[in-house]
Amino acid sequence: MFAVTILGNNSALPMHDRHPTSQVVSYDENLFLVDCGEGTQIQMNKFKIRRSRIKHIFISHLHGDHYFGLPGLLTSYGLNNRQEPLYLHAPEPLMEILDLQLKVASTQLPYELHFHPIPEKGGLLVNEKKIEVHAFPVIHRIPCWGFLFREKPKPRKLDMDRLIQYRIPSSFYPRLKAGDDYCLPDGTLIKNEEVTTPGPESLSYAFCADTIYTESFLDNIRGCTLLYHEATYLDSLRERAAERFHSTAKQAAELALKAETNQLLLGHFSSKYEGLDEFLSEAREVFPSTQLAIEGSCYSIS
Ligand SMILES: [Zn+2]
Ligand SMILES: [Zn+2]
Repeated sequence: MFAVTILGNNSALPMHDRHPTSQVVSYDENLFLVDCGEGTQIQMNKFKIRRSRIKHIFISHLHGDHYFGLPGLLTSYGLNNRQEPLYLHAPEPLMEILDLQLKVASTQLPYELHFHPIPEKGGLLVNEKKIEVHAFPVIHRIPCWGFLFREKPKPRKLDMDRLIQYRIPSSFYPRLKAGDDYCLPDGTLIKNEEVTTPGPESLSYAFCADTIYTESFLDNIRGCTLLYHEATYLDSLRERAAERFHSTAKQAAELALKAETNQLLLGHFSSKYEGLDEFLSEAREVFPSTQLAIEGSCYSIS
């Protein structure tokens, strides 16, 4: 299963029963936490997130609405006597902040906390067996990154009729699935494409945190299965959005269209708006496969 559960969908303030940014990406048994705004632990309890399964935490940038919940979460892991290492991928200055907080409280964490500063230009952060996570820069008032969760290429499918015709031994099948060619005893090369077909499509999820409308990271998100893009304002406040390095619902939809994603998820709504219906209608005029990121809802990446 590949899915994302929304824990917080509001910008800046906790308001209208909405919380600052946080979400959990699940892939099989693995959970990844993306941003950790204030209230994340309470939302985890409410929506029954198995927090012990989280091994990697990603923080997009150091505006408080994206990480003020983190010191509490790290401390709670300690109180729960977590033993498994935890990997934190975040902007470099966060380490200094956390170090000071732990030092003044004389807190010794019982688990290893591995801090990985996100490189300025992004890059590969996590390389698991079936999935990898990349960071890429977005454009905001302070350094900020988006994240791409991408399944690794799936094994190619075997064409059994052809395999029998060429008498290729079954012991070589795993290599064919991995894309290798086969050499017959007489030296004839059988190209992989002659005896296999492409495997199922690899699915991907792109998280684009606080950003002005920009096409600068279009190549990073092109063709992704599900795109989460911030939509702080409606398009009637397009200028204000630009001044504050945020985007509108319409702009998020325009980017989803250009990036040829399958589906769009909107979040990071300004507290100015109590109702969210207009975000949906505005975006759907441009990109019909749009949904609102609603707290507690789980969106399948499929
Ligand atoms: Zn924000
Ligand atoms: Zn921000």
